[in-house]
Amino acid sequence: MIPITTFAGKKLALFGLGGSGLASASALLAGGADVIGWDDNPEIVAKATSAGIPTADLRDIDWSRIAAFVLAPGVPLTHPAPHWSVGLAQAAAVQVIGDIELFCRERRANAPDAPFVAITGTNGKSTTTALIAHLMSAAGYDAQLGGNIGTAILSLEPPRAGRVHVIECSSYQIDLAPTLDPSVGILINVTEDHLDRHGTLALYAAVKERLVAGVQERGTAIVGVDDIWCAAAADRIDRAGKRVERVSVRRPLAAGLYIEAGQIMHAYGGSASALARLGGIGSLRGVHNAQNAACAAGAALALGLSPEAIQQGLVSFPGLAHRMEQVGRLGRVLFVNDSKATNTDSTAQALACFSDMFWIAGGKPKTGGIASLAGFFPRIRKAYLVGEAAAGFARELEGHVSHVVAGTLDRAVALAARDAEASDVKEPVVLLSPACASFDQYRNFEVRGDKFRELVLALPGVTAI
Ligand code: ADP
Repeated sequence: MIPITTFAGKKLALFGLGGSGLASASALLAGGADVIGWDDNPEIVAKATSAGIPTADLRDIDWSRIAAFVLAPGVPLTHPAPHWSVGLAQAAAVQVIGDIELFCRERRANAPDAPFVAITGTNGKSTTTALIAHLMSAAGYDAQLGGNIGTAILSLEPPRAGRVHVIECSSYQIDLAPTLDPSVGILINVTEDHLDRHGTLALYAAVKERLVAGVQERGTAIVGVDDIWCAAAADRIDRAGKRVERVSVRRPLAAGLYIEAGQIMHAYGGSASALARLGGIGSLRGVHNAQNAACAAGAALALGLSPEAIQQGLVSFPGLAHRMEQVGRLGRVLFVNDSKATNTDSTAQALACFSDMFWIAGGKPKTGGIASLAGFFPRIRKAYLVGEAAAGFARELEGHVSHVVAGTLDRAVALAARDAEASDVKEPVVLLSPACASFDQYRNFEVRGDKFRELVLALPGVTAI
């Protein structure tokens, strides 16, 4: 835990007592602050109270005595409408902050030179964050991985020299961190997402930009410049006099990191050299992962790792579960779990990685169907459709791709494995990349992916990867 000492002796209100809210309350209490927590869910309040967190309905407290209001990132700050607790804080002119902000203040006060990498972007945050933590720990650093992935930031070890915090930040968390000042800030990409929460794409992009614009003195901003929002952000940060490393997977850059012939190239001072090779690294397949890997390599370089250490770390990266995760082999057949792909954009990334696929798709459909995937249809040997989306997807595939309505994952895996084994394809791939949410049949994408892995590993003759 990171005790937050910067509010010692002060009174704070806190709303949202789920995982990260509880961690914030405990960290503040451990640092000597006086905290009052609340939640709209009475069961959660009861749990927090029994865990020793003082609680009270924030409608009944004296806000004139509150030094700051800590909001859990899932609670609406602005869109679609501020939560009632935010309204109370604003009416009393109390600043609204989140756990990342508490961390930043603590680090500035006690360990301003401790390396702190913050990562955001519409896609690839978790992969890039996990990869940086892996590169750093493979090189012998004490890497603390958390934030929007895994462990809440304030449940990690405190910042100090030689220990690097690698923190995934959602736009919600950035919104609640007005003085976010990482030593290395990464903005991977910006595409349409979460507009319900931020109103417009321009506002959403502006929130994300703050993470890189705020990098501390002598820090580095790493920005993927393949979309217009990030390209403009990089130019602004450059003009503000901060160090920017641009990243592109589309074109060579005069200065920055780019991908060429399966290599991460690093251009600076008028020349370019190969920093690392990505070819053959199964956990980093695809152009999207090249973008993540180039951002991660840029961060590792900024933190002082050698190209050799970066290459070694990339090769040994196990990848994240449910994202193009190689789970098993049956003879020539490779089984890949991409259960995290809950929309067609993500599934497109997976379909781009292989040439002969036995594709398992479906679940709870999103609007728009799978028309946007038509360019990949020639690579699909057969599709195995499950869940509520099955009939609709079958109609869209009709006349283009051989398919079967398998209904359940059990049946889909059995049929796809049989067909892939019997096929004349040299390297057949059975890919679960649903392009759908899981909620019609599974609690979440993790449970769905775990089930896929279990079914694959139960097939006779399969070896786990
Ligand atoms: P996030 O944490 O931002 O949701 P993840 O690293 O968990 O991202 O990846 C989730 C999915 O998003 C992946 O399965 C892949 O389909 C897609 N993805 C990952 N990285 C990128 C990227 N750089 N650009 C576009 N899509 C990506």
